[in-house]
Amino acid sequence: MHASGCARLVRDIRACRHCQGLPEGVKPIIQADAGARLLIIGQAPGARADAAGRPFDDPSGDRLRHWLAMDRATFYNPGRVAIMPMGFCFPGRGASGDLPPRPECAPLWHARLLAELPGIRLTLLIGQYAQRAYSPRPFTRLTDCVAHWRELPEDYLPLPHPSPRNQLWLKRNPWFEAELLPELKQRVARALADVSNNPRLE
Ligand code: SF4
Repeated sequence: MHASGCARLVRDIRACRHCQGLPEGVKPIIQADAGARLLIIGQAPGARADAAGRPFDDPSGDRLRHWLAMDRATFYNPGRVAIMPMGFCFPGRGASGDLPPRPECAPLWHARLLAELPGIRLTLLIGQYAQRAYSPRPFTRLTDCVAHWRELPEDYLPLPHPSPRNQLWLKRNPWFEAELLPELKQRVARALADVSNNPRLE
């Protein structure tokens, strides 16, 4: 029941044409299946992911997979990993990088999609937009949110955006690679290995 509901919803999202004014056109990019254990909530597809039609099919994705210690086959298996950005379409470029995700997207789709993902064991909040919307602990800056990762419930982890543009942030915050990344790898492996029934279904 859930699988077909999720598949129908994914089809509906891919057919969404709500935002007609997008500079690069409308192409919702989403990966989800009711069996997914890991949920990645990111920002919005970049130009390369938009061209490829796959989320994180770019240098940011290469770095993210490295952080997760995950190969491409696992990463792109919707039965294991769901990818739900704050905006499903590439929003276009601004003066200093990609524009913010379209604000109408998450309110339109997220609650319905989350209801179709009952098996999620771990949610990764990537970047400030996902953290503002979903961090269980309020914060003022991305660095505060990520630095206080131990204060969040075990099934959430905040991450900076894995963009190569963030090299300076990584350099300034060496604790991220030394302390958070080993924990991230462990929690991801644990989430994917968990095949028990979902408590939300019991
Ligand atoms: S950004 Fe979201 S709401 Fe806008 S067209 Fe794409 S899928 Fe629809």
